[in-house]
Amino acid sequence: MNALWPVVGMVGGGQLARMTQPAATALGVRLAVLAASERESAAQVVRDPVVADEKALADLMTFAKGCDVLTFDHEHVPPEHLRAMEAAGVVVRPGSEALLHAQDKGVMRERLTAIGIPCPEHRIVVDADDVAAFLGEHGGRAVLKTTRGGYDGKGVWLVDTQTPAETVAEPFLAGVPVLAEERVEYARELSALVARSPHGQAVVYPVVESVQRDGICVETVAPAPGMPGPRAVEVQRIALSIAAELGIVGVLAVEMFETTGGEFLVNELAMRPHNTGHWTIDGAVTSQFENHLRAVLDLPLGSPDARAPYTVMVNILGGELPDIYPAYRHVMARDPGLKVHWYGKEVRPGRKVGHVTAYGSDLAELRERAWHAADYIRGDIDE
Ligand code: ADP
Repeated sequence: MNALWPVVGMVGGGQLARMTQPAATALGVRLAVLAASERESAAQVVRDPVVADEKALADLMTFAKGCDVLTFDHEHVPPEHLRAMEAAGVVVRPGSEALLHAQDKGVMRERLTAIGIPCPEHRIVVDADDVAAFLGEHGGRAVLKTTRGGYDGKGVWLVDTQTPAETVAEPFLAGVPVLAEERVEYARELSALVARSPHGQAVVYPVVESVQRDGICVETVAPAPGMPGPRAVEVQRIALSIAAELGIVGVLAVEMFETTGGEFLVNELAMRPHNTGHWTIDGAVTSQFENHLRAVLDLPLGSPDARAPYTVMVNILGGELPDIYPAYRHVMARDPGLKVHWYGKEVRPGRKVGHVTAYGSDLAELRERAWHAADYIRGDIDE
């Protein structure tokens, strides 16, 4: 490789940046990472991680000087810094205007509604009386969300007419606008992943069913079971049109509800590799991490096709056992076909520390194997 091969700079040192490294290695491009500390997940595996403050414009500008394109493993870089970098000529992908829709749920809802994408009924609420009015208009049940700064279920409150006043007051404490949404009766949650490049090439992955527990994704099944082809295409079209309308570059994850009435409503957008795309490392021809890199470099995109009829991914959440290595060895011995991925994080109860993937044709067997491994490592079962 010579100096003409590009350097991709990723802001954020979490597991998404960590899992981007093997894809960069195979593509032959250098991945640079700006991390908050040397102990972060990605800082352990990339060459010469830059330890700096992702909220400080000067640090971001210094980091960007050594990169051909800047991208992200999370949504937390302040929008004004993104705009300042673009004004200074830094290539930021996805761009600040597109990324705002993943940073601010109010902006996202307004834009999706304007372009005709089905969403839950919603509006910005200003205080507890306003929440009470919204509840009155929506059958006494609603969801409150801080428009900025939430993740993994933090920043989301399920409320109804019986909810104590102090809980209803909580979302307003963050000092950012609060969004109220109708409480959707959903049969399941789905996710559609798209990768899109600057000149508009886009690929879409098979639609995934995801299971969330306490706001954390615990399982995905690709493709979503029992979904007829035309319905899957409908979901994929929604994701592709959002990517095109918003001018997104890189991976876009569109989280959706499939309602009990059979409608698809968009819940959330993420513009980076996403937990619901981890199955692609082992289960698709091109992983979401590789396609994110290809997209931000404006390279031709790789095939999103699945390699097996089904791929099941289960997240490994930390349990009470601090040392999981013996359990890990047991899981490897029991199931040589299982793929285990670690994020290099200290084990804490409830924290995502890795994931396992199983792929093949017998869905029930794949789910049993993947869940067994995750539960065993967590210490919930001992045989
Ligand atoms: P986060 O930004 O933390 O991922 P989400 O907006 O995805 O938050 O919400 C987290 C979870 O809350 C969802 O996975 C879903 O289970 C539930 N939820 C969110 N919005 C609604 C809604 N309008 N109706 C019903 N459940 C919802």
